[in-house]
Amino acid sequence: MDKVIALGRPTFGDEELNAVRDVLESGWVAGQGPNAGVLEERFAELCGTRHAVAVANCTAALHLALLAFEVGPGDDVLVADYTFPATGHSVLYTGARPVFVDVQPGTGLIDLADIAAAMTPATKGIIAVDVYGQCADYDELRSFASEQGVFIIEDAAPAVGATYRGRPAGSLADVACFSLHGRKGITSGEGGLFVTDDQRLAEKVRKLSAFGIESAYTRQAAASLAVPVFDELGYNYKLSEIAVAIAIVQLERLPELLAKRRRLVALYADLLGGIQGITLPVALPDRESTWQTYCVAIDPELDRGRIAMGLRKREIQSNFGTYSSHVQPLYGLTRYCPVSADIFARHLAIPMHANLNTDDLERVAEAVAETVAEERARVLESTP
Ligand SMILES: *Cc1c(COP(=O)(O)O)cnc(C)c1O
Repeated sequence: MDKVIALGRPTFGDEELNAVRDVLESGWVAGQGPNAGVLEERFAELCGTRHAVAVANCTAALHLALLAFEVGPGDDVLVADYTFPATGHSVLYTGARPVFVDVQPGTGLIDLADIAAAMTPATKGIIAVDVYGQCADYDELRSFASEQGVFIIEDAAPAVGATYRGRPAGSLADVACFSLHGRKGITSGEGGLFVTDDQRLAEKVRKLSAFGIESAYTRQAAASLAVPVFDELGYNYKLSEIAVAIAIVQLERLPELLAKRRRLVALYADLLGGIQGITLPVALPDRESTWQTYCVAIDPELDRGRIAMGLRKREIQSNFGTYSSHVQPLYGLTRYCPVSADIFARHLAIPMHANLNTDDLERVAEAVAETVAEERARVLESTP
């Protein structure tokens, strides 16, 4: 039997190994060292923003972004419901309340009409999510937010290299937070970046990411012995220089990795297009997704779990897409988000990463066609 086709898999080579060796030999392996500035400069350039701050992960970036906006107990933050729960968690960390907002069918992107319905006098801001790497409707979001006097955070965790109406992800809201987790398009194992044009917010995030003081590396360059003063509660959210070194190489690979994924997506469209019982993902014409995840929607009468087990039997990995937040017991139900709940129940992620080839995709498509046909036959038989 052929080997298992993985749902996701990072792409590394000798360049990453050499970069790690250099850092180990340099002696500076902790965070905010000499390489962090290089990563930050290049990342800001990619996003078209003035500032970037490297942090431990995207969840940390979201937490610090909220603190920079002075979100705390008594505040509400509207959160796009269909997301990895890191988004909702970041609001809880501050003591504020996440108020979940439903999403659009097809894309899973935050629904503008439901945002208007969810606003309260306590609403301080909105976190929109770039679902699977496709940007939300930022032009409309921005004009709504400026009318209402609330901030917008772009949870761009899976969207490194995405574009929206020709502009890069990261430049679309007041601030944006990215992830370099192992399941994203480029990765340093764990990692995150905060970007913004606002110098005050960037300085605040940088300070809070290192215990509330200036970094040891910057202090070392001072003309005299610098003894920092702790005047604010910061966190240890720095990104290790080992991860930074890997991230710099991965960023160089980004155009090639994105092009590869986009070719695979076009191939999937050909191979899966005729299969009855599934709907292919919606790619909006005015934006380019990173395709961090490729999800098909399974028709409601079919059992997604059986299809997933059929794929597993054929050595193809699959998974549900991402989460519906408002149904998670942790948050306590604030609002119903029926569209998000529906796609949470029906999305099925199938293999998507830059190491796949045409043969792999043909094998996946054949397996999907077979398992979905089997499931449709089973349902037809059991319907009186
Ligand atoms: C992956 C992801 C996160 C969390 O990123 P980490 O770097 O693992 O903290 C947050 N939001 C979304 C939408 C994600 O996909």
